[in-house]
Amino acid sequence: MNKPENGTMLGRSTAGRNDRTASLLLDWYDRHRRLLPWRAVPGEKPDVYRIWLSEIMLQQTKVATVRSFYRNFIVKWPTLTQLAKAKRTDVLRLWAGLGYYARARNLYACAQVVMGQYGGNFPDTEENLRSLPGIGSYTAAAITAIAYNQWAVVVDGNVERVLARLYTVEKPIVETRPLLRQLATRLTPQDRPGDYAQAIMDLGALICTPRSPKCVECPWTRLCKAHSTGTPECWPRKKTKAKKPRRYGVAFWIERSDGAVILRRRPDKGILGGMTEIPTSVWYDHPLSERSVRAQSPIKTHWETIPGLVRHSFTHFNLELTILTAEAERTPKDAFWCPKRKIKSEALPSLMRKVVALVQTAQNSS
Ligand code: SF4
Repeated sequence: MNKPENGTMLGRSTAGRNDRTASLLLDWYDRHRRLLPWRAVPGEKPDVYRIWLSEIMLQQTKVATVRSFYRNFIVKWPTLTQLAKAKRTDVLRLWAGLGYYARARNLYACAQVVMGQYGGNFPDTEENLRSLPGIGSYTAAAITAIAYNQWAVVVDGNVERVLARLYTVEKPIVETRPLLRQLATRLTPQDRPGDYAQAIMDLGALICTPRSPKCVECPWTRLCKAHSTGTPECWPRKKTKAKKPRRYGVAFWIERSDGAVILRRRPDKGILGGMTEIPTSVWYDHPLSERSVRAQSPIKTHWETIPGLVRHSFTHFNLELTILTAEAERTPKDAFWCPKRKIKSEALPSLMRKVVALVQTAQNSS
């Protein structure tokens, strides 16, 4: 994105006001910045590999959840070169439980491209960063600003909330994204753009929180229009949420006499792509008929139903899985046996870990 010149895109007084607004935030950041494992401390050069890794992990995921996954990755693969040389299955395995698994596949693909096409150095322009697997507009801007301290407009959900309050934007965020971006563009200073990006993220995470903003601690209290109304938590304006649809499926738990369990790899494309699963049926918007279960079961056998259901929430739907169990010695097509004690070291997403947990509970109580 082109940066605005003071006094050209903006009037001089508006530009001056925006500079003062940014500078209040930067002063606050100098005193209250979060200590994050991927963040450079003052005087230290930011490490683009760490910033990229953290930004990919933080997409749709909270800092508190990311910390331990980030630490595991950095301990195992401290540099991009080491990550690029890793086996993809090991990367997926360490990602298991963090969700949104396309991120892990793209992370690995991105490491290969940066090694192969850029000699192991991440490009330093938003445009070139955006051409890499898994890096969209937000992540490209965040890396440009934070790792290279270059001017870039970083707008995520936190920033949108803060700006919707600062300027009392009266329509829900989904309807006002271009306006919010314009406001963010005007506020982003030419001096210290990297610190500014991190400062507004910290403000959203620590002070201007969704339910109960701590306005008395905010550097923008005197400027904030939502604060002056007395009910800042009423911004951003809400859009009525459609109820999430529910889907239904069946998981087939097949155990051998030596206690090994059948697993298989999900196709790369689609939900939980590339991850390991306990074989499951297709997920429908209605419970499966017996005929459908028979048609999709990996082996022809007599199935027992485990008491209880596994419930899991995805971004766009809720899922209910019934678990069927059976014993077998044959290996179904495209599947493999895994000793039960090793099952947790497989690249099992959270949904599959819930399946394992429910089966174990049922087996322990029988
Ligand atoms: S004054 Fe309150 S509502 Fe306004 S930006 Fe600060 S924390 Fe958010």
